[in-house]
Amino acid sequence: MAAFDPTAHPGAVRQRTRTTLTWLNGTTPVGLALAVLARTTRRRTPDGLVVAGGYRLPVPRQACFTVGAVVLTRRPPEWLLHPDRADLLGHERRHTGQYALLGPLFWPAYWLACAWSYALTGGYGPGNVFERRAGLAAGGYPEPTLRPWAAALRPAAPGQGTAGRGPGGEAALRGRAASSSRRRRDGTRAAR
Ligand SMILES: [Zn+2]
Repeated sequence: MAAFDPTAHPGAVRQRTRTTLTWLNGTTPVGLALAVLARTTRRRTPDGLVVAGGYRLPVPRQACFTVGAVVLTRRPPEWLLHPDRADLLGHERRHTGQYALLGPLFWPAYWLACAWSYALTGGYGPGNVFERRAGLAAGGYPEPTLRPWAAALRPAAPGQGTAGRGPGGEAALRGRAASSSRRRRDGTRAAR
């Protein structure tokens, strides 16, 4: 392993600690096994993330997703490591922090959060606490708009619309139209 200079990368010490925790709690070994099974091309970031590109298995359908400290993408790793995708990589990096805290419990907790979000908003991401904490815009998710029954239970904030929007997210599900009113820096458009 190469020498690690913490001054070269602000926040890298904390991220390195998170990465170590994901090794210890078993989620990064699972991510790496998946990356190998899917015959991805792998690159390591200075703070210990592994970006695994060329993922081709049918599920999940997102352009990007994270397992432990492994970020898997259907694109080449260089695509995600490009400075233009810094926001999206930062979003995935925050998921690594969630894996560091929860370990394998992340998976059932995440799916419960998806179900909750779907019930409230019609999309699995916008009302999902894990996606919200990782940054909705950076992950390519729209701000949540409540379903009519949920909106009826809780008065909407001034200016908040109630029209439904697609789930989108994680640099776009294939073929899903994004809101044209939003400009994204995370490569959402390029991902289609
Ligand atoms: Zn996410």
